[in-house]
Amino acid sequence: MKRHMFALLAALALFCPQGRSEETIPLRRLEKKGYHLAVRRLDDQAWNRETAADPALPRTLAELRAYRRRIATGGVHEECAEDAYGRLYVALGNPRLSDADVGQIEADLDGELPALESSYETPEGHFLLRWTNQSAKTSDNIADPAIVENTGAYLEAAWTKYVAKFAKEPYVPAGKTKIEIVFFDIPGFLGVASPPDGPIQFNSAQWVAKPGIRKPTSSHELFHKLQYAFGYKTNPLAESGKWFSEGTASWAEVFATGSVSKAGKVTDLFDVSDIGLIEKTSYNSLPFWIFFESRLQTVPGYCAMVTFLQKYEATGKLEASLTETIVEDGPAQSVYFSDLDDFFALFARERFRGAWRTTPSGAKLYPVILGPDGKPIDPKGTGLDQYFSLSKGQSASFAESVSALGADHHRVIPSGLTAPAKVVIQVDAAPEASLAYMIVWMKDGKYVKFVYPGGAANDYTYQATVEPGTWVFLIVSGREEGGNYSVTMKVE
Ligand SMILES: [Zn+2]
Repeated sequence: MKRHMFALLAALALFCPQGRSEETIPLRRLEKKGYHLAVRRLDDQAWNRETAADPALPRTLAELRAYRRRIATGGVHEECAEDAYGRLYVALGNPRLSDADVGQIEADLDGELPALESSYETPEGHFLLRWTNQSAKTSDNIADPAIVENTGAYLEAAWTKYVAKFAKEPYVPAGKTKIEIVFFDIPGFLGVASPPDGPIQFNSAQWVAKPGIRKPTSSHELFHKLQYAFGYKTNPLAESGKWFSEGTASWAEVFATGSVSKAGKVTDLFDVSDIGLIEKTSYNSLPFWIFFESRLQTVPGYCAMVTFLQKYEATGKLEASLTETIVEDGPAQSVYFSDLDDFFALFARERFRGAWRTTPSGAKLYPVILGPDGKPIDPKGTGLDQYFSLSKGQSASFAESVSALGADHHRVIPSGLTAPAKVVIQVDAAPEASLAYMIVWMKDGKYVKFVYPGGAANDYTYQATVEPGTWVFLIVSGREEGGNYSVTMKVE
């Protein structure tokens, strides 16, 4: 389906008058152990919408029990359990489940969660942290209270930064004045912020073993609570997608702490540049969000992420809010800021030449990003998909395919030249493909010029006379749906 069709369907959904169910089901049995959370019971309309949006949503008590068991036993592996637990708690809101059914799931949860006998309130008062050192399952235990207190300080520091920048507080569960933090061994995950009306959960075993994850993961999970304050998971009509939810929460790790819990969040899009932004990325969309913030920082300190989230809060739309922010904040005359596809083509170029975190004034945002090992992560350029060294009279051809909002990079080096020669690059796009092309010249390791034929027809020919020592790169990015294409490169 075309990306724009998704946006259209979502826009239609927003105009349907569907009420939001306010009925919540508190899980009393878990409260006795120190976990406070409530499930939102959905009405029939809301339930139908959820099942349509998520084919993997468990629909019966048996499916729900099996799904919960899979999560609890490490059957789902992901860094942040936002999606997995989000699905579990949405499924618990199924209007066809009886109170006894919900009680059964609560009993299942209860059977595996340790009682949390210790607690600590941060001096600033936004967090109440609970943990245990008495669980029979020793990986639940935290012996050193300083680990918990430091986490409280990391959370408060992130809270202060978010409120100062976004002028909004992270979502605090209905009827509560603080966000509760609980620690236990969550197999396969570092942390969870879902459901909105529940605690932030951190993996005690990972917390004890890997000090480097505590600061970024605290900021990451708290940013999910800020997303909830902007309507994500709290407005049932608001769109979702991991490129947004995990991508911006990973961006927040860098924003709040200058570090990430996993280097791949920063390096994935450099190692493989053809990963469709909206359909395929998650945590690893982080460099795109840094580019988005950097490139639109027309005034020092301005953060386009704030504008984007405000638009999302008002409309519930993701891609449309992002596009609007780019169009409004970018220079009016520049083709790169006319829509998301053109902006992405610019990202493909800036990522390639290492300028993906440079602001219009030339400043570099987040010049140092640390990994969980405390070492700087510094991705350089992107891998090349095809490269050729061609003598005068030679040509090379190849076929490729690119994703929507993904990019391929190809290079031709005219070799053995003693005088200027003509380089010809010819692209034949498949009839249904929608592509954008960028030509980059380099000489003696320096960028000489860029050509961006914005609005070019799908087939494209570029020719130019180049000096000896010039390298010519073709960057192909996918618009709309991306697609197949073939390329011939010649030196004449
Ligand atoms: Zn997350």
